[in-house]
Amino acid sequence: MTSQLNDLLEPVSAGSHRRPLVILDGGTGTELVRMGFTNIDDDPLFSARLLSTNPEAIKEVHKRFYKAGSDIVVTATYQASVSGLQKHVGMTSEEAKNLIKNGVLLAKQAAQEVRSECPDRKLLLVAGSVGSYGACLHDGSEYRGDYMGKISINDLKAWHKPRIDILMEAGVDLLAIETIPCLAEALAIIDIIEDIPGCRGWVTFSCKDGKHTCGGDVFSESIKQVMISERVVAAGMNCTSPTYVSDLLESLQSHSFVKPIIVKPNSGELWDTTHRWHGGVKNVSELAKAWTKNGASWLGGCCRVYPDDISRLKNALIN
Ligand SMILES: [Zn+2]
Repeated sequence: MTSQLNDLLEPVSAGSHRRPLVILDGGTGTELVRMGFTNIDDDPLFSARLLSTNPEAIKEVHKRFYKAGSDIVVTATYQASVSGLQKHVGMTSEEAKNLIKNGVLLAKQAAQEVRSECPDRKLLLVAGSVGSYGACLHDGSEYRGDYMGKISINDLKAWHKPRIDILMEAGVDLLAIETIPCLAEALAIIDIIEDIPGCRGWVTFSCKDGKHTCGGDVFSESIKQVMISERVVAAGMNCTSPTYVSDLLESLQSHSFVKPIIVKPNSGELWDTTHRWHGGVKNVSELAKAWTKNGASWLGGCCRVYPDDISRLKNALIN
């Protein structure tokens, strides 16, 4: 698997400005909601709840994304932290560890099953989701980043490290360090992965407009900073409105980044304080072609971007 990842990361040859296109997945949690698991939206563990109550459903969602064309799916561990599982589900740390590990095994099983059904699908990788600390506070703070002044960098690292260790032990191909509102948190996580042999990952920020991360850092500068680490294989934005994507990509142009740029937006709808989605849906698959012309080469979606959207996105990009 790792050699497949290496193939994707080969430096772009001289004279070629095109990177291999990599299709990512969409919103695992929102696909589960569409399948009828509507109560996870109000659950502090979000889709991770189903790792213990309905693991088959998680595997099914991964398979749907692989079958729709995703080269890499992201584990349902976005809101699963060892301390969160202890606090909200009353698990022991050993039980929490096993649950997170199971999140990886389900994605690997999904890859294996899809590979046996569709032998032509060669690239089926698993990225271990490392959601921000704010995602586990379950108050929307991953879209504000305002917790950063309230927790020390050392405490933040101590909070992130156990899940990263478990994901690596369970054999993910890489980490998806995602929905990160602040550069400081991304750098804290990178510090952790630099101490773990063989650990690599992508970093995607949640962004509040066409220039800034949700925590207010300048997006292009944040990408520049995280790209410095050899362990970061790609970077970009996720769970960001499609409305902002072109401007965010435009802001990266002058840097001429060598590593792939990721675009993994949500549907453009807003999650309001009454925990309901509203607002207009943007057609991510229609917009994707323009984004590739603007430098993005790893594309997928986030909340409310479904397997059929990923399938349309892939068709739009390869045709
Ligand atoms: Zn999202």
